[in-house]
Amino acid sequence: MNVQRRFRENIVGDRIGADIFDFAARIYPICRSITGDGVRQTLRQIGAHIPLQIHEVPTGTAVFDWVIPQEWNIREAYIKNEQGEKIVDFAQSNLHVMSYSVPVRQRVSLAQLKRHVHTLPDQPDLIPYRTSYYAENWAFCMPHHLLESLRDETYEVVIDSCLADGHLTYGEYLHSGETDEEFLLSAHVCHPSLANDNCSGVALLTQLAKQMAGMRTRYSYRFLFAPGTIGAITWLARNEAQSRRIKHGLVVSMVGDGGGPTYKKSRRGDAMIDRAMAHVLRHCGLAPAILDFSPYGYDERQYCSPGFNLPVGLLQRSMFGEIPEYHTSADNLEFIAPEHLAVSYRLITAAINVIENDAVYRNTMPKCEPQLGRRGLYGMIGGNKDSAAANMAMLWILNLSDGMHSLLDIAERANLPFAVIQRTAQLLEHKGLLVRRDDSSGE
Ligand code: ZN
Repeated sequence: MNVQRRFRENIVGDRIGADIFDFAARIYPICRSITGDGVRQTLRQIGAHIPLQIHEVPTGTAVFDWVIPQEWNIREAYIKNEQGEKIVDFAQSNLHVMSYSVPVRQRVSLAQLKRHVHTLPDQPDLIPYRTSYYAENWAFCMPHHLLESLRDETYEVVIDSCLADGHLTYGEYLHSGETDEEFLLSAHVCHPSLANDNCSGVALLTQLAKQMAGMRTRYSYRFLFAPGTIGAITWLARNEAQSRRIKHGLVVSMVGDGGGPTYKKSRRGDAMIDRAMAHVLRHCGLAPAILDFSPYGYDERQYCSPGFNLPVGLLQRSMFGEIPEYHTSADNLEFIAPEHLAVSYRLITAAINVIENDAVYRNTMPKCEPQLGRRGLYGMIGGNKDSAAANMAMLWILNLSDGMHSLLDIAERANLPFAVIQRTAQLLEHKGLLVRRDDSSGE
């Protein structure tokens, strides 16, 4: 492996979408929650691809205003009718049991059962995803049609779960770059069998970390796989000093459907990640939505809390809560696709490429335009079909490279993709028309 290989946008092979999908499919069946063996199994699967460091934090540990809860595990759960038929079985779908349900083994009337059942009357064929982490309760989740079909008889309900002192588990992996300034990439690992939310994000980041291994990068990349909310809070509580190294960050969730893409800016709103993602999305050829920060969503809520105010945004395809499949059994492996995962992957790597390679140059011949034709620079941008864009890129770079404007500034001003500006700047540098403002990297 060539360890000197620079991070490039097009580091991906044709198989990247399929590789991400295959890994998402592998972890999809696991019953995850905010604690327990499902999280451990998932982290072990990630650890088969990258050297993941796994942390276990004991129940009762204080993390800012929160406390690590008891650990929840479940073996089986079902509802049997009077004929002894299992009408609901956890083995068929782990969404059938509300996460953190306390153990129960009793006979109940239909009326009693109904007080412990969640359905979606407007989507009567789907099983909802429900949790009760911080209020002791038990419940089953089922299609509304099934609930309506139940006869008025006695039912045997069994939830063979265990809520006991244990640990909260999370995993992290650091890809070391040339500096110890960090780029945080974070995905929640607490949802059970929901493919888009968030097997897709976990699988994408696992593959990205794997692809990055052995590449030379300017920033160090911290990949964090933690349960939503409490996991991010735990990491921040244990790494408060370390968190000051985070210069850029992205929460990645729901990246396998064909919607969006949607980018929610960091609380700062003008962080480099906000500019880079917005730029990449504007040039992605899809119908992106770029949203201002709001304190509702995924773990960017914690990273962007005022005491941290980290430059961390959220990338999704469809936005959470805005699609009918969200938090239901319809968020399954048929809802995500390799081609969408590949697009999401390329959006993220394109933004990383911007952040890795943005630099300020100086035009060495700033007095009037240099004569490009004499240097063979008109129409010689190799492999670029759009030579008009390349020529415009050249003119913009030469005009704005006054030691003040970075390549991203120029790309935004010229309304051209960063990659075109970057490629053209390299050519001009090669021809001696550009020098880096503070070229200490020795390149
Ligand atoms: Zn969710």
